[in-house]
Amino acid sequence: MARRRTAVPRGVGQSHEVFIARGENAEVWDVEGRRYIDFAGGIAVLNTGHCHPEIIAAVKAQLDNYTHTCFQVVAYEPYVELAERINALAPGNFDKKTLLLSSGSEAVENAIKIARAYTQRSGVIAFTSGYHGRTLLTLGLTGKVAPYKTGFGPFPAEIFHAQFPNALHGVSVDEAIASVESIFKNDIEANRVAAIIVEPVQGEGGFNVASPEFLQRLRALCDQHGILMIADEIQTGAGRTGTWFAMEQSGVAPDMITMAKSMAGGFPISAVVGRAEVMDAPAPGGLGGTYAGSPLGCAAALAVLKVFEKENLLERSKTLGARLTTRLQALAAQNPCIADVRGMGAMVAMELCNNGDVRHPDADLTKRLCAEATRRGLILLSCGTHGNVVRILVPLTASNALVDEGLLMLEAALATCLALQR
Ligand code: PMP
Repeated sequence: MARRRTAVPRGVGQSHEVFIARGENAEVWDVEGRRYIDFAGGIAVLNTGHCHPEIIAAVKAQLDNYTHTCFQVVAYEPYVELAERINALAPGNFDKKTLLLSSGSEAVENAIKIARAYTQRSGVIAFTSGYHGRTLLTLGLTGKVAPYKTGFGPFPAEIFHAQFPNALHGVSVDEAIASVESIFKNDIEANRVAAIIVEPVQGEGGFNVASPEFLQRLRALCDQHGILMIADEIQTGAGRTGTWFAMEQSGVAPDMITMAKSMAGGFPISAVVGRAEVMDAPAPGGLGGTYAGSPLGCAAALAVLKVFEKENLLERSKTLGARLTTRLQALAAQNPCIADVRGMGAMVAMELCNNGDVRHPDADLTKRLCAEATRRGLILLSCGTHGNVVRILVPLTASNALVDEGLLMLEAALATCLALQR
């Protein structure tokens, strides 16, 4: 840690003072030999666990052939195959095309570029508590100031924020839709808006689930005004929610979807999939990147798809989600500080408040709980606009026994924190 503090800027945060030596499925061993159960999954990246043998084998095989050409210079088949697979998986009864990149932020940046090129409009609407990345455009879209945006402005122009519906905190679907419409009155004409970008379940924002009704009404609003709908599925995608894309469960087909994280089980690659005519709007040379769609990432992503089929991981996402939810609900029944348990599939979280009063978020307890969990050997992550949500993103490949062991650690850690509070 001392070397890290001297060599690495403090702006790069670190949830836990742990350095990994080895990872296997849902377990991690640190450089001092301690073992941890991993409920963070590298922030939603490890749906298939650490070092899944089939994914590692696919990447090793790729390493032996070639590692880089830059797809725009010398093309390679895995990029095309992965695009074909994603086109077939994405919801919507229309032709699709897929662009591959390296990070989630880069995928969001490109989706906005493509929306602007297609619509010839400039405005973009995002939502409060939304998270879309750390580059300047995506920070502009992100709907939370501290710590992400602090000191980094000004952000690109013509980005507006509407309210994300949140029944628990008193924002109805009607009010959320009205807040989009008020942007058309107060800030920018609807016919100058290129895109509305929305997470079907807000990740960093606190695992706030967008209802099918909200997404359907957003779709209708987009259709009415010729606006493109972009679903940011960087955290929800790749099977976390029980379907490959969370949007499938709403019956809504967005014009574009961004994905990254778990699509390649820990190898850096991201994607934008969308309507073919939309994706073809930028002229040749307008899209790409030196490392975009790296052969190693493509090999890993294709292996992830195989593992999902072979191990029936979509079904596992549902049963694991039910298991986590049931246990957290039982914990909530005994502990008033747990104001809410929510999620979709295996994307599950609990919100901590003073005496269960949602007007008083308990970020302090959340922080102490995550620290105590780590002390006990469980890597746990928080999220939420007020930092008071504990989220679980354990690999879908984890056994029930391991998940239960982790949940026991979580329960014991909570009991310790509450006892100290008394
Ligand atoms: N969008 C969403 C919904 C995310 O959860 C994230 C990452 N937490 C991003 C965008 C940015 O992805 P990356 O960190 O790979 O740039």
